[in-house]
Amino acid sequence: MAFDDLWFDTSKCLIGGRWVAPLSGETLPVINPSDGAEIAQIARGRAEDVDAAVAAASAAMDGDWGRATALERGRALTRLGALVLDNVERLARLEAADVGKPLTQARADAVALARYCEFYGGAADKVMGETIPYLDGYTVYTLREPHGVTGHIVPWNYPMQIIGRSVGAALAMGNACVLKPAEEACLTALAFADLAVQAGLPEGALNVVPGLGAEAGAALSAHPGIHHISFTGSVGTGRAIQTAAAQNVVPVTLELGGKSPQLVFADADIDAALPFLVNAGIQNAGQTCSASSRILVERSVYDRVRDAMAERYAALRAGPALSDLELGPLISARQKEIVTGFLDAGRDLEVAARGTVVGDAPHAGSYVAPTLLADVPPDHRLAQEEIFGPVQALIPFDSEDEALAIANGTDYGLVASVWSRDGARQMRLAKKLKSGQVFLNNYGAGGGAELPFGGRGHSGHGREKGFEALYGFSVLKTVAARHG
Ligand code: NAD
Repeated sequence: MAFDDLWFDTSKCLIGGRWVAPLSGETLPVINPSDGAEIAQIARGRAEDVDAAVAAASAAMDGDWGRATALERGRALTRLGALVLDNVERLARLEAADVGKPLTQARADAVALARYCEFYGGAADKVMGETIPYLDGYTVYTLREPHGVTGHIVPWNYPMQIIGRSVGAALAMGNACVLKPAEEACLTALAFADLAVQAGLPEGALNVVPGLGAEAGAALSAHPGIHHISFTGSVGTGRAIQTAAAQNVVPVTLELGGKSPQLVFADADIDAALPFLVNAGIQNAGQTCSASSRILVERSVYDRVRDAMAERYAALRAGPALSDLELGPLISARQKEIVTGFLDAGRDLEVAARGTVVGDAPHAGSYVAPTLLADVPPDHRLAQEEIFGPVQALIPFDSEDEALAIANGTDYGLVASVWSRDGARQMRLAKKLKSGQVFLNNYGAGGGAELPFGGRGHSGHGREKGFEALYGFSVLKTVAARHG
């Protein structure tokens, strides 16, 4: 990595508007997953640093940030969005080095981060309460107020997008944030915090404490000074966070991934579907909460879809992030181990096609060739559990009812899509799919900031993105005045 990409000190926490070393003085190495090289050090924040960050956020709520009008908050976020846009290229290079994202995907994440700031900057002064018709002699209305101090525990797969949607909405509603980025992916979080300081966000409105999940993360989720927690990551950690939050009786938003299906019917425009079927599985090397890891295909077109997808798979290449191929490495050697463990568990399955890891990919990088599996039984482990790697399972079906039962037949419910020209079927399935989002003849719809996002079942609860997130990051107060 070119070290002029690092324009800030990576080894500090941002607390109360100042960059400070963690109290222990300890740091953690940052590993570039493309080649295994150590590229920086980040702070190993612990409970005492979280205490300081929560105190700074709490002071911000009592100070300039708490007094800022909705318009002023919106303007601060809009300025921050403009700074992010000015720095897209630098942010993309940081993310490529830190997370292994191919540059084009990293650039898209940086633009999305700017978009969240713009969207929530524009929305900050457009969240209104209601007046409620009530008894004679009363006037009743509602106010939307910030929770106070919000905790944000973010994973490594889309740091910029997840920080944008979560911190952006929380700041727009007037909360003060304490952000704990993933230990594997802190650099763009710190860069974003530096841009927030440059944008003039009042001190303490955004605090960042990097560190390990079991240390800084656990301390943040159990902290009695936190009034709301937003978490994206694994089901197991989500459970731990909800349990910790329960002790303080604070609300949590959990976004815990999925096993999202695409349902392809014989009457679909299959040529139009093909790029979505494949890209939704291999984007970010499959390390996407809304990855489509199950492709359900009506039997009469199954062979055609399998062969066409296999042809695309054969052309997929995984290589270093800066080579900007279809796939980069996985985030870490540990994640590669998890994904290859799943592939071992699927040795009994038919491999329809495999992409390649390019020959010059460094040996120490965490590469996995994208793999398309055919005729996967719906109850097979690889059709039930989240793999979080570039692996998709093709599953044939014979009827709409069977497709629906398979689609709804996992513990998850994040995203689903239906490919069909039959409008009545589209409407039926859109209602019956157990999923937080349903896409008809597309997948993801470009991931717009405007679109509420979140799961059912083990995919979690609560909604981020869109105006729904603003409601989630606020508390509704009912005011009833008796005036006769
Ligand atoms: P994780 O859920 O453990 O980590 C996500 C975040 O939670 C990180 O910031 C981490 O530091 C923090 N964390 C970890 N333990 C914590 C604790 N006890 N208290 C508070 N915070 C804690 O995920 P992982 O271990 O990095 O990845 C494991 C698996 O999780 C992956 O294979 C994948 O299946 C899944 N995952 C899902 C998503 C998603 O977007 N839904 C993102 C990352 C990982």
